[in-house]
Amino acid sequence: MSDALTDRTAESIAAAVRGGEASAEEVARAFLARADRTSKRLGSFLHRTPEQAIASARAIDARRAKGERLGALAGVPVALKDNICTRGVPTTCGSRILEGYRPPYDAHVVERLRAADAVFVGKTNCDEFAMGSSTENSAYFPTRNPWDLARVPGGSSGGSAAAVAAREAALALGSDTGGSVRQPAAFCGVYGLKPTYGAVSRYGLVAFASSLDQIGPFARTARDTALLYDAIQGRDERDMTSRPEARPVSLDALEQGVRGLTLGVPRDLLAAEGVAPEIRERFEVASRAFADAGAKIVDVALPHAQYAIATYYLIAPAEASSNLARYDGVRYGLRVPDLDLATMYEATRGQGFGREVKRRILLGTYALSAGYYDAYYLGAQRVRTLIRRDFTEALRSADVLFFPVTPTTAFGIGEKVDDPLAMYLNDIYSIPASLAGVPALSFPAGFGPTGLPIGLQLVGRPFAEETLLRIARAAEAWGDATTRAPAIAREGAA
Ligand code: GLN
Repeated sequence: MSDALTDRTAESIAAAVRGGEASAEEVARAFLARADRTSKRLGSFLHRTPEQAIASARAIDARRAKGERLGALAGVPVALKDNICTRGVPTTCGSRILEGYRPPYDAHVVERLRAADAVFVGKTNCDEFAMGSSTENSAYFPTRNPWDLARVPGGSSGGSAAAVAAREAALALGSDTGGSVRQPAAFCGVYGLKPTYGAVSRYGLVAFASSLDQIGPFARTARDTALLYDAIQGRDERDMTSRPEARPVSLDALEQGVRGLTLGVPRDLLAAEGVAPEIRERFEVASRAFADAGAKIVDVALPHAQYAIATYYLIAPAEASSNLARYDGVRYGLRVPDLDLATMYEATRGQGFGREVKRRILLGTYALSAGYYDAYYLGAQRVRTLIRRDFTEALRSADVLFFPVTPTTAFGIGEKVDDPLAMYLNDIYSIPASLAGVPALSFPAGFGPTGLPIGLQLVGRPFAEETLLRIARAAEAWGDATTRAPAIAREGAA
């Protein structure tokens, strides 16, 4: 029984809990038992909260027993990336500098999920301050890919992606600044949505690069992704970049199929070197299937997308160097005592931050410094405008853009960790949509010859999350991409 529950969609779990066919407690226990078996080996969680999960599940069951109407995510176990603030529960961002930090407040998304009667099961591992593409930059331990423990789950939200793929949680939240939801989703064979910039409040999300950061859902189906997105989207006055145009996705609309929609393929981007044959092949197979189902496929151009990585790796570190100035040993987490204030700052930051974070602070400080500001930071902002215009233009002739999420399937643990440039180049397909601020979805599109998952990407007009999910939903009918589970999620099953 317990394993059957962990295989169910969030939608069916919530319906069962609301209808009294399953108790929230029984659901929580099933997922907690699964995570007991696998989470240590996967390194998916930095901090699990089983007692709180059982307590909130019981409270939900008690409210149902009293005849109260339960929320859209009634009893659904949800994992949260560890850069999302949870009141009284450790929030470290995978960093030593925030070790022991317990925020005094909940992030907006946490409030929203609580109101929807979700059950939190813990905080997931991530690259330190969300800087990375493999979750190897966590100061605590790396996360492993549930499909092959010798490989990375992607990053920076690798723990969230692994937890959902391994059925340790039905849903999870991550954050995406340059691909950190979409890329791990692709590597782990689950859905990952980066909403339109401004669709989801960043209140309580620890800032990395504020003009790019968005919180996004992980799920195993298009409908579950929509349910989670619906719960967290919408205007919040506490985030001044939060937009009133955001609107929930209609589950019914997801069933409309792809007939009549135009998918634009940026051929120049697809021609990039280093794209693995199995990724190209999956992409071509899916394109043909969309065309057979009635979509129109056209070529589009994103002429400036080739500059996206260079642009991002100036803007994101610049913003990070400013955002991370607050970790000074005074207000949060780690403090290394020393003789005077200046040496205390130095010692705290020196010991508290890892190599990648230091590299970004150095890069960003340099790009912002007098004399270099115009050449680097301002230059990057200008190119960002050109990239944004490319998307506006391409999305005039096409309803959505369609291309891969990553140039390869999941790479090996240790393979790129000593080569920052190789790690950065891996973001070639995820960064352009981040710079443009448009919504982008990674959906499971099947498996490569060695059984590793492959994700493909749909990018839409601002606030067109529904169109992206509708197209991906149609693709679910073609194979086992959303139903096949990694072997580790079957271990110990009755
Ligand atoms: N891999 C990218 C980086 O290292 C993206 C990270 C993210 O989206 N948080 O910055």
